[in-house]
Amino acid sequence: MTTAVSLAAEVRSGSRSARAAVDESLVAITADVRELNTFLSVQGEEAQARADEIDAAVAAGRDPGPLAGVPVALKDNLCTRGIATTCGSRILEGWLPPYDATVVESLRRAGAVVVGKTNMDEFAMGSSTENSAFGPARNPRCPSKVPGGSSGGSAAAVAAGFAPLALGSDTGGSIRQPAALCGVVGMKPTYGRVSRYGLVAFASSLDQIGPFATSVEDAALLFDVIAGHDPLDSTSLPSDAEPTRPGVHDGVEGVRVGLCRELVDGCAADVAARVQQAADALADAGAKVDEISVPEFSYGLSAYYLIAPAEASSNLARYDGVRYGLRVDGEDVEAMNTATRTAGFGAEVKRRVMLGTYALSAGYYDAYYAQAQRVRTLVMRAFDRAYESVDVLIGATAPTTAFDLGAKVHDPMAMYMNDVCTIPSNLSGHPAISVPYGTGDDGLPVGVQVLAPALAETLLFRVARVVEAHAPEGAGS
Ligand code: GLN
Repeated sequence: MTTAVSLAAEVRSGSRSARAAVDESLVAITADVRELNTFLSVQGEEAQARADEIDAAVAAGRDPGPLAGVPVALKDNLCTRGIATTCGSRILEGWLPPYDATVVESLRRAGAVVVGKTNMDEFAMGSSTENSAFGPARNPRCPSKVPGGSSGGSAAAVAAGFAPLALGSDTGGSIRQPAALCGVVGMKPTYGRVSRYGLVAFASSLDQIGPFATSVEDAALLFDVIAGHDPLDSTSLPSDAEPTRPGVHDGVEGVRVGLCRELVDGCAADVAARVQQAADALADAGAKVDEISVPEFSYGLSAYYLIAPAEASSNLARYDGVRYGLRVDGEDVEAMNTATRTAGFGAEVKRRVMLGTYALSAGYYDAYYAQAQRVRTLVMRAFDRAYESVDVLIGATAPTTAFDLGAKVHDPMAMYMNDVCTIPSNLSGHPAISVPYGTGDDGLPVGVQVLAPALAETLLFRVARVVEAHAPEGAGS
């Protein structure tokens, strides 16, 4: 498939029209012969009108920007003015955001064209997109398998060739894990590098928006477009960093890489073998690769599944039947509130709200929530210690390749285990990326994860590019 880099270059030079690119994307989305259920809504007419504007700008000698005419799919928890934003939930049905998320504005300024909003686990809680109120999305590499989650629709959209780029959100792995399972690149930026304004909150201290792409360079390009300070997000970092894309091809000569035991042990043997192979490739390319152990990572999952539900239980209190979307009437306000939330939330969201409320309740707060925060600090310190001796870490993204639809829906613990390798970077706020690296024994994609210290996105993309350049043939769509 054409990359965003080359498509934007063609559109800017006038050798290809944005309209043709957008129409091609819309035709593929509408055809969806495999019934992947990737999109919750498609903005066909708006996208065509926007593409025409871009072509007009090019014809008039103006530069529409670095993503000129590139179709982009948006996870349906990113607010789009006047366009349904459901978060994969019944409770937001009918709600039309009155404003655009900052990332949506950044995309527009860069000349990108939003083609649709993608399917997701309800409120981004899940690892398979089966928790969507609108039916599961399917994996384009093998439609009987899950695409991963919670940004499964965005990963699938890029893997299926519906759009060269997509945005997702990553609270515990929701960009990287579906990227791995669908065989595309997915990246979570440093917490605060990308504005969360207009991202519907799940767990605010962990949520970050990030890119999906078919290549590392495309992911870097999209990251550069959406990164930067935003006064509308109080956790947005103050200074703008250098663009990362110019350094993508700088190689790994002398870079110290730690092959992290805890991000490989416990993974399926075929996945572990691919990570080892990627480590060897990095060494061949001039990196200094050593094994490293960071035992604290093993506690990340438990801490996450207290902190994230605690924050979610508070964030989701706003869906009261008054301010947004769904209302189910009742005799008094409390009855209306209960009826609305009972009807509007799915089982996993209810589970998280209960878990979080329990972890924050008087008498349990110290034992659960406060203890989890202490563990989070230990994980952060463990990263700091590791980064004294290495520049980046590598490991698996997900413990297995894509699993069958339905295989884990009734076993929350088995579902949560998907995030065991991705959660540490969310707890620390560090950037991390998943790069497709060949296939498992079942012929399905494997993702290798690269992790870097805060603000080291340029280095992260550089290392990821070398992994990508040495990757064995992947699973074709
Ligand atoms: N799968 C994880 C969860 O269910 C992560 C979700 C996410 O990153 N949004 O919480």
